[in-house]
Parts: sequence; structure tokens; C-alpha cells
Amino acid sequence: MTMLQGNTGDWEMVIGLEVHAQVISEAKLFSGAATAFGAEPNTQVSLVDAAMPGMLPVINRVAVEQAVRTGLGLKAEINLVSVFDRKNYFYPDLPQGYQISQFPKPIVGQGTLILDLAGGETREVGITRIHLEQDAGKSLHDQHPSNTFIDLNRSGVTLMEIVSEPDMRTPEEAGAYLRKLRSILRYLGTCDGNMEQGSLRCDANVSVRRAGDELGTRCEIKNVNSIRFVQQAIDYEARRQIELIEEGGTVDQETRLFDSGNGTTRSMRSKEEAHDYRYFPDPDLLPLEISQGFVEEIRASLPELPDAKKERFVSDYGLGTEDAGLLTAERATADFYEEVAKGRDSKLACNWVTGELFGVLNKSGLGIGDSPVSAAALGGLIDLIADGTLSGRLAKDVFEAMAETGKEASVVVEEKGLKQVSDSGAIEAEVDQVLQAYADKVAEYKGGKDKLFGFFVGQVMKATGGKANPGVVNEVLKKKLGG
Ligand code: ADP
Ligand code: MG
Repeated sequence: MTMLQGNTGDWEMVIGLEVHAQVISEAKLFSGAATAFGAEPNTQVSLVDAAMPGMLPVINRVAVEQAVRTGLGLKAEINLVSVFDRKNYFYPDLPQGYQISQFPKPIVGQGTLILDLAGGETREVGITRIHLEQDAGKSLHDQHPSNTFIDLNRSGVTLMEIVSEPDMRTPEEAGAYLRKLRSILRYLGTCDGNMEQGSLRCDANVSVRRAGDELGTRCEIKNVNSIRFVQQAIDYEARRQIELIEEGGTVDQETRLFDSGNGTTRSMRSKEEAHDYRYFPDPDLLPLEISQGFVEEIRASLPELPDAKKERFVSDYGLGTEDAGLLTAERATADFYEEVAKGRDSKLACNWVTGELFGVLNKSGLGIGDSPVSAAALGGLIDLIADGTLSGRLAKDVFEAMAETGKEASVVVEEKGLKQVSDSGAIEAEVDQVLQAYADKVAEYKGGKDKLFGFFVGQVMKATGGKANPGVVNEVLKKKLGG
């Protein structure tokens, strides 16, 4: 169901996203100043970043490599010639008075991204372009009652602006787009994807229309800093536009802000007031020319990316697409899974990683890198299930103890005496006792009350503290009761 219901019929949402991704590089786009997050204000500012008169920008080769790498990761065309333009506007935290960006000739052209949706479904979204640009500094309004301070550490840091086609139709698809994009950027090592620290920021463009109509007028919601908020903002904005149109009004193209406090958007500036940026090629920079060889070298160094890895997990490990998607969203998770699955039942390994392990990680807010149970230790636990030492039930208890104490499965089993009992002699003795104690029920069973079989199984399991091998218990009970 992708339509929104209004008072006068159904509406379709149309969504296009513009993402600013901070490029991983030790230096800025046009200067050698450092880029580490959280440094003391104004300690990472070169004369170029401060826009001192006469300073000249020099392009950072790593930033160019990272943009090409990202383009290749999104199966996009790479433009061997691109041009840096000046985008003129005044901000107190942008001392140049213009931002160096790319407009008509970006470094990366059209590409695609595949959304992983609920139920293992997928859908393709077009990437329009990626261009390189400088970030601005930061105004600090909360440090002094009447003064604003400026921190230029971020001024000149490399951003990639990644623009999508208006191809998404629901807030969930927008969420899936951002998750997938972040996943690919992290696999590539071109952006750390940290939305809280602002290294990934999203502007959401939203319009509504009747199915089959031309595109409606869009509003752009600026700088939303979490995936949940992006989805909330889009949902609110689409409903606002529908209500407006149904009441006889029209949507004005404008820039809006999301208020996470009450989940609404409000107008920031209309398109009529929009700046005329007077873009023109920066005379301090030559057109950027890269060679096909440079591109091919980067292509050859790309890692296996999420889509390919997911496909391989489906074909090599026999997993469903949804599980394969979960396991490959992060490279560290995929590596962890592969270590657990190596030489073991791959589906069982998948169940343990996506079930028990993800459960523990979610509950404690830990990433896979800080997992209290290592891949080798989880593999050891699965081995104990495979060789009959542990039943599935007992294994869950053992896992819980492993997560709490960081101990190996075999150690926990030893310490807690949790070993499964499969010896049929020992189990027969327990079965005999249960059948004696419930002689009345045995008579009922023999009189045709078949359902009591489960009761007997339960009693034997209880008597053995859950340690009896359920298969053997069933077998012995059948033998004793059937005869
Ligand atoms: P601008 O630079 O003014 O923001 P662009 O043409 O670059 O304009 O578009 C920006 C974003 O808006 C793109 O992600 C695009 O997919 C999206 N977009 C364009 N038209 C619509 C529309 N009618 N509804 C929703 N999104 C749209
Ligand atoms: Mg825009």
C-alpha cells in the first residue's frame, strides 16, 4: 500500500533525497588542515580555510579518489572532466563569501541504488549525480549571552552531495534508501555515515499527486539528522500538502525545517526569496581532469559490496533474501557470520546470529565489533548442538551465560552441568519413574486419550531439569507406552 488516503481520494507521495556525506580524508578539499571530529574550535584551520587574501586552493587527491570510489560503488558514470564553480552567498561561518562546489559539470553522473524492503523485496532508485563541495564552518550561539562565536574547523571539509531521482514513494522507502546508501559508503570507506555527528545529512524533497499525474510542486525539508526523523518529516509534509490541496489551496515551492519536538515542518524560506547564487567556474582552479586509468585502478580496489555479498549469501549459504540482507548490511556483521558459518550448518548459524546474538546486541546497544560473544565462541556453541551435547533449549541458556560472562560454551556447560542427557538407559529410568507416578494417566492414555503423550514428555523433561534429549525421550516413551 503506497497511497495516502485523503478526503477526496488517494494520493501518491513523491520523494527525492539530497544527501551531504562528509568524505573520509585526513585533509580538507582544498587545504592540508586536519578534519578530525571534536577538536578544539579553530585548531584545524589553514590560511586557505580562513580565506586570507591571496591564498589559493589546491585540490586534495584523496577527496577526488573518494568521490570516484563512491560513484563506482553506486554504478554511476564517472566524468573524466568536471568543473569547480563558485556558489556565491554570505554566511558568517563561510569567510570566502562563496562555496566552491560543482554545478553543471559534476564529477559523477547517473547511477543506481537498490532498496532492500520488507519481506526481502527490492526496488531500484536512480542516482542523479554526485558532486564535490566544501563544507562551511559552524556558528556557536550558545556560548555567550550576546555574542556568537565562529568555529572554522569544518570550513573547507570535503562533502559529496549525492542527489537521488524523485523515485521513492513512501517514507519507508526513503528510510531504506538512507540505510542502503550509508551501508555502501561504509563498505567503500568513503564516509563514516554518522548522522549524529553530522557526517551524513539529508534534505528531503516531497510532493504529492494523483496516480498517473505529472509531478506536483515540491517542498524541501532541510538537514534532518536521523533516519527516523526523515521518515516522520516526509509523512507529516505529505499529509500537510494533501490537506492544503484538498482545501482548495496550492503548494508553494519552499524550504522547510523539521521540528523533532512535535514532528511537524515549518516554512523557512520560499523559492522566490531563494538566492541567486551566480555560479561561475572558479578562476583559481583548472577543470579537474582524471584519466580512465585512475578510474580503473580505483575500480580494481573496490571491496565486495552489499548487493553482491547478499546475492552470494543467498546462493552459497542457502539463506533467504531478508536474512542475507540483514547479515550484509554491515561489513563487520557479514564477516562475523562467515566465520560462524564456516564448516557448520549455515542456516543454523544465521538463526543464531540474527536471533540470539542480535537480540543481545540490541538490548545492550552494542555494535557487532563489541559483541560479548565472539564468532569463534558462537561457533563452539553451535558445535555442541551439532554433536548432541546440547539441545536447542539448553543452548539458549548457555548462550545467555556466555553473553553475560564472556566464557566459552564448553566452560559454561561444564560449570553449570548443563550437558544434555542422551543415554537411553538413564532416560529409561526417568521414564519409568514418571509412568509409575502417573499410573492413572497411563491408564487414560491407553484408553485412547492420545493427547497425554505430550504431558509425559513434559514430566520427563521437568524431572531431568530440561537436560534429557527430547528425541530420545520420545522414543523411549513410545516404546514403553506402545507395548
Ligand atoms: P534543487 O537544486 O533546487 O534542490 P534539483 O532539481 O537538484 O533542485 O532537485 C533536488 C531534489 O528534488 C532531487 O533529489 C529530486 O529528485 C527531487 N525532486 C525534484 N522534483 C521533485 C518533485 N516534484 N517531488 C519530489 N521530489 C522532487
Ligand atoms: Mg536542493
